[in-house]
Amino acid sequence: MPDYESYFAAFLERQKDCRRSLKNYNFSSHPKLINFSSNDYLGLSRHPLLIERSQDYTRRFGASSGASRLITGNLPVYTDLEDNLAKALNKPAALIVNSGYQTNFSVLEALLDSSNFEEDPIIFCDKFCHNSMLINIRYRNRLVRFKHNDLTHLENLLDKNRLKKFKFILVESLYSMDGDYTDLKALTSLAKKYDAYVYVDDAHAVGICGAEGWGKTGEYSQDIDMIMGTFSKGLGSYGGYIGCSAIMRDFLINRCKGMIYSTGLPPSVLGAISAAIELIPHLHEERQRLRNYSSIVRDFFKKAGLNDGNSESHIIPWIIGDSEKAMRASLYLEEKGIIAVCIRPPTVPKGTSRIRFCLSSIHTEADIEYLMDTILTVEQRL
Ligand SMILES: *Cc1c(COP(=O)(O)O)cnc(C)c1O
Repeated sequence: MPDYESYFAAFLERQKDCRRSLKNYNFSSHPKLINFSSNDYLGLSRHPLLIERSQDYTRRFGASSGASRLITGNLPVYTDLEDNLAKALNKPAALIVNSGYQTNFSVLEALLDSSNFEEDPIIFCDKFCHNSMLINIRYRNRLVRFKHNDLTHLENLLDKNRLKKFKFILVESLYSMDGDYTDLKALTSLAKKYDAYVYVDDAHAVGICGAEGWGKTGEYSQDIDMIMGTFSKGLGSYGGYIGCSAIMRDFLINRCKGMIYSTGLPPSVLGAISAAIELIPHLHEERQRLRNYSSIVRDFFKKAGLNDGNSESHIIPWIIGDSEKAMRASLYLEEKGIIAVCIRPPTVPKGTSRIRFCLSSIHTEADIEYLMDTILTVEQRL
């Protein structure tokens, strides 16, 4: 018998200084630590209404939905949630799937399967798209990646492939490692020109962007075929969703394996989702505060001559370059009570290791001041 374990151990060896490990953080027992690595952008995970409804649903419906949605796990509340979500997203229909990762992975698998069409579809995907959009081996050989946020490059590639009948464009509205936005207006008009299908992952913008907080896609929802989002970031709980046509929703119910073969979300999560959907349109003040913080910190980066990439949002990377140096920066920050994790290759391109700061509306002004002061101190020590 081969020594199976030795192969896995060898993989770990090869990781060298990029080897990852899990770390515990207990923010409630260390009140002095400030978390700048959470995607809980509006602090909703701690909102009394989410907690209360989550508990209420558990009491009423139990700790599990007990089966996949197509069997008996489709709690009636799903219908309300999806109707409300569809309205909020300005799409005819919506479908909730168990996590954002599972949504991207399994919806794209269903959507892009060659057997749907009489000719292989070709897929154009931004270089920086999230792992969950790119992982599917089944369409890897039909994947064309364009330079990050470079719509001229995308247009060249579309033009080269203009004779292909089925073209799909995959982007994020707000990129999670760089904090920059896609120009959805230009993108959707490009898609129209080349008759391409548009899929937008709105994970980091939901809750924060848009007049009512429903993300970056709002204005362009009619020109975006599928909107994907997650409840696990700005919306404070867990789960993924799709906004789409009624036909597409039906298609996914019949075809999306991540929904068909997975137990429905637990009632506790559905309760939290329900509360978040109710709250989001009313959180104007929180969104404004987050925007203010973001521009203060980005201005500070410019003034201090630090590289924040092209951040335009509440996600602000401090691009340091060297992995070891970035790791040290993260450690020094932690010594000062600031939790901001280091992101290294392969999550980001080689030579662009960084600390990624995620701001939240529940940070205080003092937290933001302290962050900027501490970055300066740490920078001098590096
Ligand atoms: C976090 C993230 C996901 C996955 O969402 P989860 O609900 O955490 O599984 C998908 N897409 C993007 C762009 C993300 O950042």
